[in-house]
Amino acid sequence: MAARDILDMSGRVALVTGAGTGLGARFCMALAEHGAAVVAVARRADKVESVAADIVKGGGRAIAVSGDVTDSGSIARAFDAAEKAFGTVDAVVANAGIAVPGRAVETSDEDWRRTMATNLDGVFYTAREAAKRLLAAGKPGSIVNIASILGYGVSKGNASYAVSKAAVVQMTQALAIEWAFKGIRVNAIAPGYVITDINRDYLTEGRGREMARDIPVGRFGQEHDLDGALLLLLSEAGSFMTGTTITVDGGHRIGLRGV
Ligand code: NAD
Repeated sequence: MAARDILDMSGRVALVTGAGTGLGARFCMALAEHGAAVVAVARRADKVESVAADIVKGGGRAIAVSGDVTDSGSIARAFDAAEKAFGTVDAVVANAGIAVPGRAVETSDEDWRRTMATNLDGVFYTAREAAKRLLAAGKPGSIVNIASILGYGVSKGNASYAVSKAAVVQMTQALAIEWAFKGIRVNAIAPGYVITDINRDYLTEGRGREMARDIPVGRFGQEHDLDGALLLLLSEAGSFMTGTTITVDGGHRIGLRGV
């Protein structure tokens, strides 16, 4: 394959969870632009229909599918729908995630469980479903889990989120070693603070804006800043990479003040 084509995703079927907003929606667009057929998964399909419609309008192939990552049966049905539309899914982005901030002593059982159910169980159910189907079809594939720099460092008031994301980093290694021999690669991206709809107001005004001073490059990430890492890990360009987590954070993690 010519070096200029190594990020090409033509002929690939990509499934992205949590695709209705923020990074997930951006990942869908980036993958479609590089030729993948895209399956955009959200708890309610109507929420992701506009993401799929935009891709189709631009000449790409995409469908919107409902799927709740905390429910393995629901995830299996989303993969069924994907397979029916485009064939075996061979590029997966386990992106759905939530943060329920709060000091540890004030965190309820329910909030702890909800965070783990989404960020940890959800990533596992998605990756496991993808691998089962790839193994059954005898096909290679690539899975990217979305972790966070809070999977490495910690800040006060984020215990459940940080623990769940650290587990995603470890899960990425554990799954990679099981499936590497079968041609299924598992990697992760650990983003720093990236401006999306849910945090735009906070990060661009007042106290939130000051947090940019802790980032060596002096700014927050933009959604498109993750495109390169995503395409690298999912495409032929990353064919010798598995079990790794790429940090994309403008140097935030290595900054003296930490995260
Ligand atoms: P977001 O809230 O816009 O995206 C998360 C998506 O996951 C939402 O669309 C939400 O509806 C979906 N989701 C939540 N629970 C779900 C469930 N049970 N089933 C299916 N979908 C569900 O926020 P984002 O910033 O785009 O975050 C995407 C991922 O990136 C998350 O895993 C997040 O932890 C991670 N991340 C984000 C940042 C950042 O600064 N934006 C930094 C590090 C990591």
